[in-house]
Amino acid sequence: MTASIIDGKAIAAELRGKVTEAVHRLLRDRGFVPGIAVVLVGQNPASEVYVRNKSKAVTEAGMRPFDRHLPESVNEAELLDLIAQLNADPAVHGILVQLPLPKQIDSQKIIAAIDPDKDIDGFHPMNAGRLASGLPGLVPCTPLGCIILAKKVHASLTGLEAVVIGRSNIVGKPVAQLLLAENATVTVAHSKTRDLPAVCRRADLLVAAIGRAEMVRGDWIKPGATVIDVGINRVAGQGGKTRIVGDVAAEVAQAAGALTPVPGGVGPMTIACLLANTLRAACMQRGLPAPNIGS
Ligand code: NAD
Repeated sequence: MTASIIDGKAIAAELRGKVTEAVHRLLRDRGFVPGIAVVLVGQNPASEVYVRNKSKAVTEAGMRPFDRHLPESVNEAELLDLIAQLNADPAVHGILVQLPLPKQIDSQKIIAAIDPDKDIDGFHPMNAGRLASGLPGLVPCTPLGCIILAKKVHASLTGLEAVVIGRSNIVGKPVAQLLLAENATVTVAHSKTRDLPAVCRRADLLVAAIGRAEMVRGDWIKPGATVIDVGINRVAGQGGKTRIVGDVAAEVAQAAGALTPVPGGVGPMTIACLLANTLRAACMQRGLPAPNIGS
């Protein structure tokens, strides 16, 4: 058996198309467009690439960008000042601070300073708490993307045995909360889990968010399971070039029923969900119902 490939690129393009249509409708019917501020500090090359891709997607979706690029040397007070300005600006509906931040800045302090209603990354403790309590709020983009992809394979996740490898605040924990909300039976595995392969073999749905190249092997997979590979790992390729691989080995395709590729799986969903979150945040702030775009 060879797994069917879950085409994250196509699914993300579809979602972005729906967001763009909804943005055009907002402009036509309500006379405003959602505004999004992406804040980048310093010159981390990976962050610069992410921010460039996000900014391009924002413009393509018809949203208004308020990008801010601050020098590496910026201090915490200056960054907090900028967040306060963006919080107060009614044209800015979503704020995203690209992580990691330079050492002199406490990331948690910055995240906590963002207005939870503008927290399109869904990392604010208020939104994490809402998610854990089953209350509506803004949900982290990559986990949301994982759920959308899983639901392309399983119309309902109710009763599925789901195993999440990884317990970060950015991916593992929120993905587990979202799976619980979908009525899956959820196990969260991590670096201290005993006999990880045996835990994984229970999974009808396996989400790997580890950050270790090709760690999940073919014999860890229950035959026919759905595997969502969140990992983005740079490894040496041929001719000294680097290539990107996931947390799941290629051989997993021989055991799984469905599998997300890397690249082209979860990655494109993250930006699409960021746009969907911004649209949602803008509607909430204007007292409008959130458009039903299937996210
Ligand atoms: P993280 O380092 O914060 O967390 C990794 C988790 O994996 C930890 O909870 C740890 O307990 C677990 N882990 C580490 N080694 C393990 C082991 N040997 N066995 C079992 N568990 C182990 O990373 P993160 O921010 O959650 O990201 C995870 C991966 O997802 C990374 O490769 C990252 O680049 C990728 N990522 C992708 C996207 C995307 O858009 N596709 C977004 C965010 C993160």
